[in-house]
Amino acid sequence: MNPKIFNRLILLVACVIFFNIALSGQTIKVTLLGTGCPAPVMNRFGPSILVEAGDQKLIFDTGRGALLRLTQIKVKPKDINGVFFTHLHSDHLVGFPDLWLTGWVNGRRDKPVQAFGPKGTVKMMSYLEQAFEYDIRIRLYDDKAPPEGVVIEAKDITEGVVYEKNGVKLTAFEVDHQPIKPAFGYRIDYAGRSVVLSGDTRFSENLIKFAKGADLLIHEVVSPESLKRAEYGEERSKIIIDHHTTPEQAGELFSIVKPKLAVYSHIVLPSATVQDLIPPTRKTYSGPLELGEDLTVFEIGEKVEVRKPNIPIKIVN
Ligand SMILES: [Zn+2]
Ligand SMILES: [Zn+2]
Repeated sequence: MNPKIFNRLILLVACVIFFNIALSGQTIKVTLLGTGCPAPVMNRFGPSILVEAGDQKLIFDTGRGALLRLTQIKVKPKDINGVFFTHLHSDHLVGFPDLWLTGWVNGRRDKPVQAFGPKGTVKMMSYLEQAFEYDIRIRLYDDKAPPEGVVIEAKDITEGVVYEKNGVKLTAFEVDHQPIKPAFGYRIDYAGRSVVLSGDTRFSENLIKFAKGADLLIHEVVSPESLKRAEYGEERSKIIIDHHTTPEQAGELFSIVKPKLAVYSHIVLPSATVQDLIPPTRKTYSGPLELGEDLTVFEIGEKVEVRKPNIPIKIVN
């Protein structure tokens, strides 16, 4: 073979190997910032999940305490590239003004917040700007906070690819949280890895469609047992259960999707125990399963690593 062609061939092979090694070293890191729901409890803050992929830091829902949890893991609010709402139930949003305004005044964010969510998001963001108009005005001239940092660039989204940057692709898909419509789940793809977040939903065929081949599936769950114990009454319990997914139903869904790891977050009620959630799921699903706690971290590479706060690393094949 001509030595020139041979050398080029060697170079090409080396490039392909290097590219593959570089790609296989890339991971998606997911941190559960809050695994609760509306009930105010100290161990499960409001729903919020941080996804870090490449140079992107994306936050999904900003429930109660989202900024506190971000601060615990030393992520600066000004480094968040996008905020994505699954739906406009207040427990998924109440932490937003804190992230937005504290991240601006205290965190000195100097670029706009990018906020995405279902129809109504743009309207809500403009109302928030009106509600905090007094503070914004004062902070601008008194604290000399950077004017660009208080701007919210909001967008109402529909099902499909809603964000694509530096190799990170984010797809929103409709779930079934009737009568809250639309309510979205999200799929994040990066370097051949994938994470699916259910948002709030009943058993959803559309979620199954979009979750095909996902490495990590983070799903909400409602425990009828926990409602019974808290004496919610039959009528109120039925309404709550009808908006969400029971452990048995979630197990059925996991058995179809077959993710490398299935995780529960957004636990209704937050007082639900391992016993309330895991044995009923096992009636319909025998694969890898974790009950999420606030600040549980998942690192998705060749394998999925689980790190629970103060608990040793566990590896799931
Ligand atoms: Zn919720
Ligand atoms: Zn909801």
